[in-house]
Amino acid sequence: MTEVVAREIIYCDICSFPPEYCEFGGTFKRCKDWLQANHLQLFEKLYSDDALAKATSTLSIEKEQQISRDLEKKQAKEEAKMERELQKKLASKIIIKRIERNRRKHVISISGLEVCNIDMKKLAKTFASKFATGASVTKNAEKKEEILVQGDVSDEAKEYIENLLQEKGLDEVKVEQIDDKKKKPKPTAP
Ligand SMILES: [Zn+2]
Repeated sequence: MTEVVAREIIYCDICSFPPEYCEFGGTFKRCKDWLQANHLQLFEKLYSDDALAKATSTLSIEKEQQISRDLEKKQAKEEAKMERELQKKLASKIIIKRIERNRRKHVISISGLEVCNIDMKKLAKTFASKFATGASVTKNAEKKEEILVQGDVSDEAKEYIENLLQEKGLDEVKVEQIDDKKKKPKPTAP
């Protein structure tokens, strides 16, 4: 016959959980008294000053490490995000398209200005007064805002925008001028 020796499992008489879990119940003080009276060895293992000090210090160190790891991760993530956004900004392009309406009339459309993070309506007004012409904000096919300026002011607009970019520390953003002529045939690609 084999004798089965069961490992003695102690359950708290007060809260019915194993004594390791007593602290989570609402009867902790009574649980402790019961354990001390009935299972002194286990009581000492769990609640001696040494055991408590060890438990608190490891807990707080682990917790501290966890918190600083979390913070580092968060910061790294944030930095990577900002870096990506900056790269995206710097890689973006402002396009000034010169559109011929008829032989004498031109209008220019300026797109990609969102990189400047500036009020488009105010900018349109600035163009209007600076170039003594009409200017308005419209939305293009991609639902992005662009500014339409009456007149052949592509070069002036480019200069103004380049100064603006410099002011904002975005001088790496390119400003490209495009001529959109109706009558001339498109040059064939090499
Ligand atoms: Zn208990």
